Formats: sequence, structure tokens, C-alpha cells
Amino acid sequence: MTIRFNFPHQVGTEIEYIREALECGRLAGDGPYTKKCSELLGAYLGAKDVLLTHSCTAALEMAAILADIQPGDEVIMPSYTFVSTANAFVLRGAIPVFVDIRPDTLNMDESLIKAAISSRTKAIVPVHYAGVACEMDTIMEMARQHGLLVIEDAAQALGSTYKNRKLGTIGDLAAFSFHETKNIVSGEGGALVVNDLRFFERAEIIREKGTNRSRFFRGEVDKYTWVDVGSSYLPSELVAAFLFAQLQHIDEINGRRMAIWKRYESALRSLEKNGFVSLPMIPCECAHNAHMFYLLTRTHDEQVALLAALKAKGVNAVFHYVPLHATDAGRKFGRAGSAMSVTEDLSDRLVRLPLYPALTEDEIAYICATIEEFFGDGRGL
Ligand SMILES: *Cc1c(COP(=O)(O)O)cnc(C)c1O
Repeated sequence: MTIRFNFPHQVGTEIEYIREALECGRLAGDGPYTKKCSELLGAYLGAKDVLLTHSCTAALEMAAILADIQPGDEVIMPSYTFVSTANAFVLRGAIPVFVDIRPDTLNMDESLIKAAISSRTKAIVPVHYAGVACEMDTIMEMARQHGLLVIEDAAQALGSTYKNRKLGTIGDLAAFSFHETKNIVSGEGGALVVNDLRFFERAEIIREKGTNRSRFFRGEVDKYTWVDVGSSYLPSELVAAFLFAQLQHIDEINGRRMAIWKRYESALRSLEKNGFVSLPMIPCECAHNAHMFYLLTRTHDEQVALLAALKAKGVNAVFHYVPLHATDAGRKFGRAGSAMSVTEDLSDRLVRLPLYPALTEDEIAYICATIEEFFGDGRGL
């Protein structure tokens, strides 16, 4: 048996919508499907404004421009995250200031933020790891006290909530991803959520190569010209058509993922009870979207051995991330704003299991049996 780590889900209507876009004869960005996607997302999230982008990375770059990040400014974020969280700000000359994560949720430890704030700090970037919310009340309160912006990296968090509020609607700005490894996909894709309407007009301009083209199409100006910095952050209508098909099934797709997540949890619970592994902890104020199922082994050697044992049985499990503060670029561009002991420890012990709607009951059972066998035959000790 070979079990892939990921297989992008299809709802079935993607091709039909792409064909419609082709027949419509309008493939550049901001056509009918882009509009449909932003309207659907806006209604789903209850967000004031959603701008489709070609990736979450692009949405984060837009957020960094909107936050008016200048060379030498500091931005507080976890080290345990994907490179784009940091790169978007480094591109503006900012210094990422990394803080450690909480051992229970692997999210940025909110109690360490205060000590990381300096006179150069401009923003806090909470990353909702595995689609489980950061401690947003504390983070928002801290930001308000110090006059900082909050930019949610909600790449993994579409459909998750914190105290019944959808993630991506709490910070001033937020970024989502529709990369093929996320819950809702369009190959590459993303969205910027603008929760603070003072950013709205500039967000449109930055996304349209620094022009007021969007206003021109609304008939608000009689020609469009270069008015600000910007880039091309729009997805093609072909991508938007694909995405729209998926967005019509957010809860159904997340529901299927949750069923798999719960199967893993119940099957591996006894290994946790017996002290072999730790499973994800979901705080009671958080409802998550089953983006990821991971377990923590007791040691780094055990992580390496478990990944190899799974691989030998055809199961493609993976680990991540190499903590950003410990990378060449991280050392060059950023600095640690706290000790990094939890980040260093947990990234050395984390194993991510395959999780996607096409995963079958038999495959899940096989993966769990392989893990049980690994710990059962003594190699786990
Ligand atoms: C996937 C991911 C990104 C990047 O998303 P892209 O759409 O691939 O640009 C950024 N941050 C986090 C936390 C992610 O998981």
C-alpha cells in the first residue's frame, strides 16, 4: 500500500466553471468568478471586505505594504511557521522578531509578546497553527495598548473560530491560502481580508499594480492611472472559477476532514494514555477546521524512526517546520524576541499524518496500525 501525504480534493464542478469562464471569453483577474468568490467568502466569514489574491504569500505582502512597514521596523511573529509569514515583511526591510510557541497548541505564546515589543514594533502576526486559534483576546488587547496592527496569518484556518468568531475577522488584516495542501484549494490561491476599512481603498490600488483601475471600473474616475506602489496580486479567472466550485462546499469539505481527524484521535488515544505520544490539544474556546493531524513523539530519534517506519510501510508522513530563527535567512534578517526552547523541542518531535477527503477508512486504519506496531514492538522505547 502507498498512501500519499496529500491529495487535493475536487468537488466535481471545477471543470464546468472553468469551461464557463472560457466561454465567457474573459480570463484576466477581477471578472465574474473573482467577484463571486469574494462575495461568497465575505458572507461566509462575515467580513467587510475580501480581496482574492494569487496566494497567501501575496496577501501577506499586501498586508505588509498596507501596514506601512518601513526598513528597520519590527514585526512580532512565531518562529514556528512557514517562511512567507516572515518574508512578506522582510521584503519591506522589516526585522521579524520571533517569539516561542505554547507547548499545548503550538501557537505563538501570547505571554511572551510584551517583552518582545520595542519602540520599532509595528505589528503582531499571529499564525493559527493547524487551524486552531491563537489567544486572540490577549493579542488584540496587547496590540491596542501599544498601538500595533494585528495581521492574522490564517493560511490554515478557513472555517475555524475563536469564541464563535471566524478566524480572519479578528485582526486588522488577515491572509488565507488556497494552496493545494490547504482545506479549500485552487492549486495556488489566497485572499486578503480587510477588517479595518481605512485600508480598503489602498488595498484595491496595491493589488491592481498601483493603479486606481478598480475605481475606474466602478465609474468613479474617468481614466485610470498610476497612483501608488503596487504589484499584480490578482488571480486569473480560471483559478477563481476553480476556487468558486470549492468555496461552495467549505463546510462539507471541512466536515469530511473532521471525521478523519476524529478517527485518528480515537485510534491513537491509547498510545497517548500510555505515554508514547502527545496528540493535539484544542482549547475549549476554539472550534477548528481539521486542517492537520499531528502527533508528538517523546524524542527526536523517535520522530526520525517513526517517519522511517511509516515510509517503509508506504505511508508518506512528514515533519515541519525548520524554525525560522534557526535558518540562514532567519539569522540574517530576524532576531529572537524570546528563548526558543519549546519551538526547538517540538519541531524536533512533530509528525504530521496524511489528511485529505479522499483518504479511506482502510487507509486510516492501516496508518494507525503501523504507528501502534512501531511503539508496540519496542522500537518506540
Ligand atoms: C501555506 C501557508 C502560507 C503560504 O500560503 P501560499 O498560499 O502558499 O502562499 C503562509 N503561512 C502559513 C502559516 C501557511 O501554512
